[in-house]
Amino acid sequence: MATERTLSIIKPDATRRNLTGKVNACLEAAGLRIIAQKRLWLTQAQAEAFYGVHRERGFFRDLVTFMVSGPVVAQVLEGENAVASNREIMGATNPANAAPGTIRAQFAESIEANTVHGSDSAENAAVEIAFFFSGLEIVG
Ligand code: ATP
Ligand code: MG
Repeated sequence: MATERTLSIIKPDATRRNLTGKVNACLEAAGLRIIAQKRLWLTQAQAEAFYGVHRERGFFRDLVTFMVSGPVVAQVLEGENAVASNREIMGATNPANAAPGTIRAQFAESIEANTVHGSDSAENAAVEIAFFFSGLEIVG
């Protein structure tokens, strides 16, 4: 296994409920290090660009509306196997299917308002990290 980086987003349902610290505690307990972090409110255009791969999906409009409904916290996580490790601690997309103890099982409100985003491959992680952060903002 290699040290990897992945992009995480704490979504508006979580910032609204003041859960940033609780989510971060889960990430750190799983061995992931938060090596960059910023809170921002995405514009419609930014949310559409970030989730562009889902443009043709039926839930795209609602997803974008949700992602601009409040602040998010974008993060770079670093650790052994960080992409897969973060996906594991996040849990399944639909919280009804998320394993007990995962972030989504504990905190997600619905399949849409599911508390966190995590990159799904090393390639996408590199693209998504560059979407939010410059090299100077990442302190490993
Ligand atoms: P994310 O990309 O946010 O980490 P994911 O990889 O588990 O989540 P994707 O299939 O990439 O899931 O979907 C992106 C996001 O779109 C989901 O996290 C969720 O917020 C929303 N979404 C996915 N499927 C549905 C659906 N059937 N209905 C409503 N929203 C959905
Ligand atoms: Mg995804």
